[in-house]
Amino acid sequence: MQELTHWINGRHVKGTSGRFADVMNPATGEVQARVPLATKAELDAAVADAAKAQPAWGATNPQKRGRVMMAMVGLINRDMDKLAEALSREHGKTIPDAKGDVQRGLEVIEYCIGAAQMLKGEFTDAAGPGIDMYSMRQPLGVAAGITPFNFPAMIPLWKMGPALSSGNAFILKPSERDPTVPLMLAELFKEAGLPDGVLQVINGDKDSVDAILDNETIQAIGFVGSTPIAEYIYGRGCSNGKRVQCFGGAKNHMIIMPDADLDQAADALIGAGYGAAGERCMAISVAVPVGKETADRLVEKLVPRIEKLKVGPYTAGNDVDYGPVVTAAAKANILKLVESGVEQGAKLVVDGRGFKLQGYEDGYFVGPHLFDDVTTDMDIYKKEIFGPVLCTVRADSYEEAIGYAMDHEYGNGTAIFTRDGDTARDFASRINVGMVGINVPIPVPLAYHTFGGWKKSGFGDLNQHGPDAFRFYTRTKTVTSRWPSGLKEGGEFHFKAMD
Ligand code: NAD
Repeated sequence: MQELTHWINGRHVKGTSGRFADVMNPATGEVQARVPLATKAELDAAVADAAKAQPAWGATNPQKRGRVMMAMVGLINRDMDKLAEALSREHGKTIPDAKGDVQRGLEVIEYCIGAAQMLKGEFTDAAGPGIDMYSMRQPLGVAAGITPFNFPAMIPLWKMGPALSSGNAFILKPSERDPTVPLMLAELFKEAGLPDGVLQVINGDKDSVDAILDNETIQAIGFVGSTPIAEYIYGRGCSNGKRVQCFGGAKNHMIIMPDADLDQAADALIGAGYGAAGERCMAISVAVPVGKETADRLVEKLVPRIEKLKVGPYTAGNDVDYGPVVTAAAKANILKLVESGVEQGAKLVVDGRGFKLQGYEDGYFVGPHLFDDVTTDMDIYKKEIFGPVLCTVRADSYEEAIGYAMDHEYGNGTAIFTRDGDTARDFASRINVGMVGINVPIPVPLAYHTFGGWKKSGFGDLNQHGPDAFRFYTRTKTVTSRWPSGLKEGGEFHFKAMD
């Protein structure tokens, strides 16, 4: 069986802990590799080496660091097919989805080519006679990222690009479920010209995460994953004096107004609710149609579309809409929540519980489900299901509908479908959610804007990518300088303009 490695000082390094996690093929339920789980000693040693490599990299001019990003863009494009195949094999998503995963990461690397522009600082000429003032952004030193299974290319790239192009060394602890693509990306960074030791990929579980949280050299941690772990990492990381940003779980509501184009809304719900088997933090998991007629017509339009969805392995190519979920445990959890929905009185309009795929009986496939008449006290409404399960909560008015989205503890993404500009504008302005779509079901901001949720979906005050990422991975130093031309005869300083 294939034994995966860590990536340390520019090469693959075997784990020494003697502990491993199985990497599954979710389509077949077979173990296809095992990944080493690092000890605190392994993590600390990799961080110490990264700290040695960082000063020279931090002193490299930002345009040259941008050129490494530029080379990386070419290499990712060159290897797109290979990356997507490796990604699908461990994650289970379809090849087009896997390419999308790589592509959305790639776009952040493209953005980071402009690191010099992002880092050039501010300057005030003649703040006083002979006095100038300037602020510069300097790297933090060593930063770390801890990433989830569901976007094994995109989210590591969202972190590596800004952290590295800002001049930091970076430690990535990817998900132990699908660690191959992050290791491939590290190889590509070396080929792109990144010096050895500046990027270390340490595989592991809670032990290595705790080692990151307690390591005194690591200055900043970017986390993406479920909310309970986000809260844990935010709390322990902050109390250890680190800069921490954590992005957590989601329950994204889409409001469908009576004036919406219902075919368009139904199509959008199919893609946003069931794409990637619902394993997206920006998936729509709650549809809120406004008015009985809207709800009845929407459900009527959804059912045949859902029944047409094709579920299968990524190897089946374009014949498949979504693949298996990531683990047997994830599948069991989804089906348990579906049972709770039935028991608590929701109407299961499309029942995927009996779904079986011939030849893949041991794979983690979950059929699509649609619930109607869901109420806010039900577990399927309160909890993140992270599977192909869409819940319909009926609302009598726009105020009731927006109230559902506002009152939910998560606040990652949301959408409204309407033809009315006033309603859309009111929604965008009042909603307490980080990313908002107007007739756009998955409003993931592009690389040059920032990505982040509110409430229990985001902890820390700076978002991912866009200008915030450069702020997160740098600290500001402001210099006030005074030169002799500012001296009056006799040596008295002019400070008036400054007082
Ligand atoms: P997860 O929280 O289980 O794991 C995320 C990372 O934390 C992994 O690297 C894992 O090894 C580590 N980890 C797991 N348990 C830990 C523990 N007890 N102590 C310390 N570290 C631990 O999340 P996941 O299942 O990999 O990913 C799915 C979750 O991520 C969903 O909740 C999804 O909504 C969320 N997510 C959020 C965003 C966002 O931007 N808000 C994006 C993608 C995914």
